[in-house]
Amino acid sequence: MSHLIVYAHPKDKSFNHAVLEAVKETLKSQNKKFEVRELYNLKFNPVLSVNDLAQIHEGKIPEDIKREQEYIRQAENIIFIYPVWWFGMPSILKGYIDRVFAYGFAYAVGDKGIKGLLKDKKVYILNTTGGPEENYQKFGFANALKTTTEAGIMEFCGMKVALHKYFYAVPTVDQQTRSNMLKEIQTLNLG
Ligand code: FAD
Repeated sequence: MSHLIVYAHPKDKSFNHAVLEAVKETLKSQNKKFEVRELYNLKFNPVLSVNDLAQIHEGKIPEDIKREQEYIRQAENIIFIYPVWWFGMPSILKGYIDRVFAYGFAYAVGDKGIKGLLKDKKVYILNTTGGPEENYQKFGFANALKTTTEAGIMEFCGMKVALHKYFYAVPTVDQQTRSNMLKEIQTLNLG
């Protein structure tokens, strides 16, 4: 499998869902093989529990985590699609990362400190926002997300962030602008 899409939005008719469909169409048109993990539809349990921690510590990975890790293992390119919520990601995706990007799978401690274990993977992040681009620059939100999401999660695990694309202010821009955003997806390099 060349691409894994990890999608986190609860609504079927959301703009994020339209982004998901546009990404799938783009990959199909390029004959890329992909899998989609729709976290809400899967009812993915996002709570890293005391039991999970104990099992991971013993190297006995819970089945639902193991399944997702296998998807990650097989992918060369991972595309995350989600809205910015409270200047982070929806909690179901944060919980997916808490549980799936576990110690021993996504990172480990080596002689020289922490080392990322997912070095063969590229990441593409497609975000929608409520706020306009101007605010993301003026108040440093884009830089903050670069630090927390790109460096703090993806690069920490050894992955290369090949693209972090924002579709700004989608609830308030006009229909034509939203249509253009969806068309732009065909032009993105998604690996
Ligand atoms: P939707 O609400 O589903 O759709 C937006 C518009 O697009 C609607 O008018 C819809 O009709 C239209 N649309 C849907 N499908 C299509 C299509 N195929 N073609 C054209 N138009 C279409 N924003 C921030 O910037 N920072 C934050 O910290 C932040 N925190 C939030 C926290 C919460 C809990 C929530 C609920 C929202 C927050 N927001 C924040 C706003 C959020 O990022 C945006 O509402 C979201 O990104 C919009 O994406 P959506 O898929 O939910 O859009």
